[in-house]
Amino acid sequence: MKIKIIKCLQDNYSYLLIDEENNYACVVDPSEPKPIINYIEKNNIKLKFILNTHHHFDHVGGNKDLKKKYNSQVIGFKKDKNRIPEIDICLDNNEIWKNEKFEAKIYHIPGHTTGHICYHFYNQNILFTGDTLFSLGCGRIFEGTYSQMFSSLKLIKSFPKNTKIYCGHEYTLKNSDFCLKYDSNNSALKEKILSVKNYLNKGLTSMPTTLEDELSCNIFLKSKDIETFSKLRDLKDNF
Ligand code: ZN
Ligand code: FE
Repeated sequence: MKIKIIKCLQDNYSYLLIDEENNYACVVDPSEPKPIINYIEKNNIKLKFILNTHHHFDHVGGNKDLKKKYNSQVIGFKKDKNRIPEIDICLDNNEIWKNEKFEAKIYHIPGHTTGHICYHFYNQNILFTGDTLFSLGCGRIFEGTYSQMFSSLKLIKSFPKNTKIYCGHEYTLKNSDFCLKYDSNNSALKEKILSVKNYLNKGLTSMPTTLEDELSCNIFLKSKDIETFSKLRDLKDNF
């Protein structure tokens, strides 16, 4: 399995998961159709599935055009079936989805939205976290509660440490300023920032991050209780 990171809109990432044996692919959170179509056409990809983490326009904006062009099937959370455009396959919390060589377990992780899910491709140990967990940050709480978001992050913390995490946006460097302000003695964080800058300077991305990095550097994952977490989330909203 190969992962191709595709930059979309201002700072979004869509991800193509490609089975190199037959060029079948899934796309995770297609923000817009064009950059994805470009890559697909150039590389002879057969887009079989469209996977959405949540219903926001910058994660589902490509659903309709891609489905129409490639006859792909759209996958999303059951309880969000009325807000995910063109949905075909509705998945529930803890359900395993398998098709062709693709195999993922779905987890309901509310907070950013009430219907947010993540996809764990456990054979490759890859996790797509959408707008719930960012590298060095977490999503804004739009629809859910602080306590839901805190529990969702706690669930993510329980994955294997070497899990590769692909997030919905390139916010890492911006997020790092906030982490550094409230966790200024964290040497792992300083190292992480150097490596992120290095990647970005080369025109690369800060994806994937690893759970291990996030556990030691991400101030939201380091929050021990809901009070600390909520306070930090409020501070970040006004940062
Ligand atoms: Zn969102
Ligand atoms: Fe987003």
